[in-house]
Amino acid sequence: MTGQKDEGPHVVVLGGGLAGVACAHGLGDEGIRVTLVDRNDYHQFQPLLYQVATSQLPAEDIARPHRAIFREYPTVEIRTADVAEIDAGNLAVTLSGGDRITGSHLVIAAGARPEYFGVPGAAEHAFPLYSVADAERLRRHLQSTVHANQPDEGALDVVVVGGGPTGVEIAGALTELMAALVATERISKPGTITVVDRGSTLLAAFSRKSHKYAHKRLTEHGADPRLGTGVAAVHADRVEFDDGSSIRTRTVIWGGGESAASVVGSATGLTTGRGGRIDVQPDLTVDGHPHVYAIGDVANIPAKDGTILPQLGSVAQQSGAWVAANILRELHGEKAEPFRYKDKGIMAMIGRNAAVAEVGRHRHQMEGPLAFAAWLGVHAMLLSGAHSKTDAFMSWAWDYFDRDRAATVEWSATPQRIAWGDDSADVPHIIVDRGDSTTPAGSN
Ligand SMILES: Cc1cc2nc3c(=O)[nH]c(=O)nc-3n(C[C@H](O)[C@H](O)[C@H](O)COP(=O)(O)OP(=O)(O)OC[C@H]3O[C@@H](n4cnc5c(N)ncnc54)[C@H](O)[C@@H]3O)c2cc1C
Repeated sequence: MTGQKDEGPHVVVLGGGLAGVACAHGLGDEGIRVTLVDRNDYHQFQPLLYQVATSQLPAEDIARPHRAIFREYPTVEIRTADVAEIDAGNLAVTLSGGDRITGSHLVIAAGARPEYFGVPGAAEHAFPLYSVADAERLRRHLQSTVHANQPDEGALDVVVVGGGPTGVEIAGALTELMAALVATERISKPGTITVVDRGSTLLAAFSRKSHKYAHKRLTEHGADPRLGTGVAAVHADRVEFDDGSSIRTRTVIWGGGESAASVVGSATGLTTGRGGRIDVQPDLTVDGHPHVYAIGDVANIPAKDGTILPQLGSVAQQSGAWVAANILRELHGEKAEPFRYKDKGIMAMIGRNAAVAEVGRHRHQMEGPLAFAAWLGVHAMLLSGAHSKTDAFMSWAWDYFDRDRAATVEWSATPQRIAWGDDSADVPHIIVDRGDSTTPAGSN
């Protein structure tokens, strides 16, 4: 590729997550030329990362090759490459190998990365949970700890940083994993699971009823929420808190926050705001660049009430589809329209048989199977961008939710699969330890 601008519309999409895939689908459906660039050859589904980390799903089940997703889209070209630089003024990206791709439009959909807020040792020693590689790295670490564990008291103790949905979901799954490992006599005593958060509740974005539900469910299953506590430092063998206390642990899981993907730092001329994310106009364009859009987790997308929309799968997917529609409007000589988000609610799975959801304008609160059904509907919709067989996901998920498999944890290489029915050519190339990433951290 050269730096020359192409004849006719050519949309360069940086990032093949929920936002980028939805955008490329919308444009590809209309025969518009798209180049989708992602450092991975696959799309990954973050809401099920904790399932991979706790050996309940193989990583391949939540990662689908971009080439398979766009097989029927002749105008969508996939480039598997790291983008080193964004040149918004020239509607171009530069790849780490030096190639430059220039389009008539540029869509930035590079997602997020863990934010360690400068906590010493966190980037080096904590396990983030933002990519399938992160989840797989954590799974292997837990597995090797268990194999080496029996004589080593406390080796399986885990500290989860962050009491939001990511922290609560992984903590819930870990309590079940520990119970299963004890029941199957792989360990004699469960490791402790401590969930640390600076705030005064778990699931702060939810209602008080959901705070209580999450707290009760986690504590009943043996987790220990430690609220009003900040992390001061993470070491290889312990974590220190800001009240001077510490916990010995070799497993600190970081769900403590996120900021924009690091490639945003390479961009010139873009305004960034909260979380280092790109501030966008109501029509999702970047101020001063009418042909540059930012969508999904990488963007601060204004809501109708002046707040910023949360970093959620539905926001990412809908903003991607909206940008495709706005580009098409422009190509037809029409005006771009302000993004209208259809709020799907907020929800979290706290383990088998336990979920909370708050949906609708008045945030109607649901727990248990009803909440799970709401979760399932929303997540099947999110998965539909990458998979046509969402019924396979539905049937796996009901099975997971319903069944008490606490004593039959798939600790081996054969977890219960989602019956996607993909052929063997559709296997993604998941590289757990890249040369360019650090261990254990390394997302985006
Ligand atoms: C653990 C976890 C659980 C979650 N659970 C839920 C949930 O239950 N429900 C929900 O609605 N939302 C959930 N979310 C949020 C949701 O997953 C995100 O909002 C959504 O995936 C964002 O989509 P995106 O396309 O903006 O970014 P991403 O999906 O992160 O995609 C960004 C893409 O850009 C690529 N990329 C980044 N930088 C570069 C570069 N320099 N060069 C090349 N490629 C690059 C990445 O490889 C990636 O494929 C969860 C998030 C996490 C982390």
